Formats: sequence, structure tokens, C-alpha cells
Amino acid sequence: MSRLVMKFGGTSVGNAAAISALAAITREQLHTWQQVVVVVSAMSGVTDMLLNGAHSAASGDQTSYKEIGARLREKHAAALAELVPNAAAAVATSTAIEQLIDEFELLCHSVGVLGEASPRAIDAISSLGERMSVRLVAAALNAHGTRAEAIDATEIVVTTPHFGTAVPLQPHTREHTRARLLPLLEHGVVPVVTGFIGATEHGATTTLGRGGSDYSGAIVGAALDADEVAIYTDVDGVMTTDPRLSPDARVIPTISFAEMGELAYFGAKVLHPRTIRPVVEHGIPLRIRNTFNPAHPGTLVVSEPVANGRPIKAVTTIKSMSMITVEGRGMIGVPGVAARTFGAVASVGANVLMISQASSEQSICFVIPQNVSAAVVKALEEGLASELARRDVDRIAPRESVVIVTAVGAGMRETPGVASQVFSALAEQKINVIAIAQGSSECSISVVVSSADADAAVRAIHALTI
Ligand code: ADP
Ligand code: ASP
Ligand code: MG
Repeated sequence: MSRLVMKFGGTSVGNAAAISALAAITREQLHTWQQVVVVVSAMSGVTDMLLNGAHSAASGDQTSYKEIGARLREKHAAALAELVPNAAAAVATSTAIEQLIDEFELLCHSVGVLGEASPRAIDAISSLGERMSVRLVAAALNAHGTRAEAIDATEIVVTTPHFGTAVPLQPHTREHTRARLLPLLEHGVVPVVTGFIGATEHGATTTLGRGGSDYSGAIVGAALDADEVAIYTDVDGVMTTDPRLSPDARVIPTISFAEMGELAYFGAKVLHPRTIRPVVEHGIPLRIRNTFNPAHPGTLVVSEPVANGRPIKAVTTIKSMSMITVEGRGMIGVPGVAARTFGAVASVGANVLMISQASSEQSICFVIPQNVSAAVVKALEEGLASELARRDVDRIAPRESVVIVTAVGAGMRETPGVASQVFSALAEQKINVIAIAQGSSECSISVVVSSADADAAVRAIHALTI
């Protein structure tokens, strides 16, 4: 039995033409694979529209969400009319989508009445995009002669109740996914599953985080013991850098799980960072491919790195960061300062992306998203109040508007002098390096530079991949 799970992103279901391409790929893959599952994102822009509706309603605006509702109706109806021209065949799908938009308006209305959008309400609202797109895609597949059924992942992906960042619970998800999808697959039906969403054990809808449909593809692939998970997107594969930043970006034919993990973690939007783990654990090959150029083989993510003669394979960046420095001569040898520092950071739920400590132990610096910087500084001032009073800690200093630029490549483990190549390349462009860290897997080096230097730093390091 051969089984393929394909995930299609927002642009890959963004309009009727894209969904037709998806249908053609699915038909084609059914010649190679006996069983195929399709996981889809919301149509591009839809999750943002839903969230804007929720937030504007929460702030007392009772009209914007209605306008958004009208635009959503138009967008989905236009695609459906093109994909399923036979009105009688389209009616069940169009009714189901209309009902989901009614639900959106009702939820926004309630949020408006309450004057607040709870994380749970936000998830109920933002999940609707995928719930609409699966219906549209399943209808298109059926109209193209491929038997398909829309499935809400709330039926199969069981998650923790962390709304907005839910994590699947393994045994339950596996059991539900297999019970729901295997009978369909055995009957030659293509399940079309919502990406991005799941539900708690009590049935409350959750989401896995923005961009989380990739993760859904991996979760479903792992639960079904798929032979391959393919992530279809709008570029030919994983590239040496974001093609939007550099026209010289090239596709990387094979990359290791570890390298891909570092790239995704440090900002390469092409793959959600959590996608890697479920496929690695099950030894499932992962491929990144282009919906709009299906003949291209894409990038294959494999367990062992494949040397390409270059220690640096790719470069990536995360923008809008702050670097916080906790500094003080009294920190030397005082146990527990680091623990209290990161305890304070964790208390506000901030995600620390990078840490570096000077060998003198006189300072610890770490990088967090800029939007939580003020809250983190406040928590640090409270958490380290006694150290500040004793002057063991002199300063808690945030530096705003920085970016992390990361060079990735397993080759740097064996090749001496890679770090110095990176720093020379930056120095040549007169870019000031604010902090440095090396990934624990030794296949990445990250530098912190000012936002103003971000693009130049990426270009300078990218030149080393060529
Ligand atoms: P989807 O909607 O299919 O999930 P995303 O927009 O989330 O697509 O991810 C694809 C985008 O990721 C590409 O259009 C590209 O601009 C961006 N990207 C960032 N870094 C890379 C990289 N290293 N390789 C390829 N694409 C990248
Ligand atoms: N639709 C969701 C988002 O926009 C999930 C995804 O596209 O992967 O974040
Ligand atoms: Mg994505």
C-alpha cells in the first residue's frame, strides 16, 4: 500500500485556477500512489480577513466584519462558480460555505457584545477559512472526476487546549485520524482535510499557530504512516534564501531534517518549524514542491545531510526583534541569575529565539519578538528587583529594531573557519554584528544586526552559498 499526504498552502487554493492546478496534481499523483490525502490552508488572505473581523468587532466596530463577511461570500462563490459550473452540483457546497460565513458574523457579533475576543473565540473564528476551503476543494475534485470528501480536522486532530498554539496529542490523534480516514482511503475517496486546526478532547476548536497547515500535513502523514508528505506551495522548493529578498535565490535539491529545522526555526516561512518533528520521528520523507510548476522535483528533506561542497547552504532572517541585555558585575558566579532571568521571561509567555552569554558572565543577552519587549523588561525588573537593589545587576537594557540573520549548513561542522567567513563578509559590507550564537546542532550560525542592515547582511551571507 502506498500512501501520499499532500498539503496545499493559501496561494495554492487562492483562486479557481490554483484549485484546478491542485485537482490536476491530485489526479496525476493517483497514478503513482494508491492512496492520497489532501490537506489545505484557507484561501490566501482569508485567515487575515477573519482575524481582522474579530479584532475590529472586539474594539466596538460593528460594520467591518459585515463587510468582510460580504467579501468572503464573494470570494468563495466566485471560485465555486468557476470550479463547479453546474449550479445543482454546487448547491450543497455553497450552502455549507454560506453557513460558515453566517457563523463568522454571529461570532463577531458576540465578540462585539462582549467587547473582547478571547483566545478561544479567536480560534473559533480563524478556523473558518480552512473549513470553507476544504468544502470548495472537495467540490472541485468531485467536479473533476476525483471522488473526495471534506473533513474538518476537529474530528481527527486532538490537541491541548492552548488556543492559538495548540499541540496535538499523539495517541488520540492517531486513533481518530485512522478511524476517520482509512475507510475513505480504502474506498478510493480522497479526504480533503483542513490544515491549521484541531479540537480539544472536549471538542473546542483550536488552531496550531499561523502557518500551521504545514504542521497539519505532517501530523496527518505521521498518523497515517504515509510514505511521503509533500508540501505544495508557490515556489519551486526550499531556496538558498527567501526569493523575495534576493533574486539570486536557488532551489536546494536535498536538505537534511536538521538543516531544514534550523531554517524554519530562524524564519524561512516556506515551512512551519513544527512540521519537521512528526515526519522525522516516523522516518517519512518530506518534499516541498510548487503547485504552479508541478514538473519541478522540488526539495527533498532527508535524514542525512548531503554535502554540496559549500559549508553554508542557505540564509534566513527573522525581523522585528528586540535584544535584551541583563548586565552587572555582581552576576559573576552568582547562581540562579540566569534561571531567574528566563523565569521572568517565561512568565509573560515570551519566546526566546536566541541566547548568548559573555564568557565573563557579566551579561546575558537574548532575543525576543519586539512586540513583547516592554512586557519582558517589566517582568525582569520585578523578577530581579533584589539584584537590582543590591547592584548585582546594573542594567536591563532593551535594544529595539534588530533582526536575526542565520546561516545554515551541515558542512560547517567539519569545515573550519566558516564563522570567520561569515564575519568577514559582514565586515566587508560594514555591517556591525551586535551578538552571535551557534546552533546546538552545529549546523547554523546566527548573528544579530540592526534592522537597517538586515537585507545587506542576508545578501552578504547569501553570496557565500554560491
Ligand atoms: P503557503 O501559503 O504555501 O504555506 P507561505 O507563504 O507560507 O506559503 O511560504 C512560501 C513562501 O516562503 C515563499 O513564497 C517565499 O517567499 C517564502 N520563503 C522564505 N524563505 C524561503 C526559502 N528559504 N525558500 C523558499 N521560500 C522561502
Ligand atoms: N491559514 C492559516 C494561516 O494563514 C494556516 C496556514 O496557511 O498554514 O496562518
Ligand atoms: Mg505557509
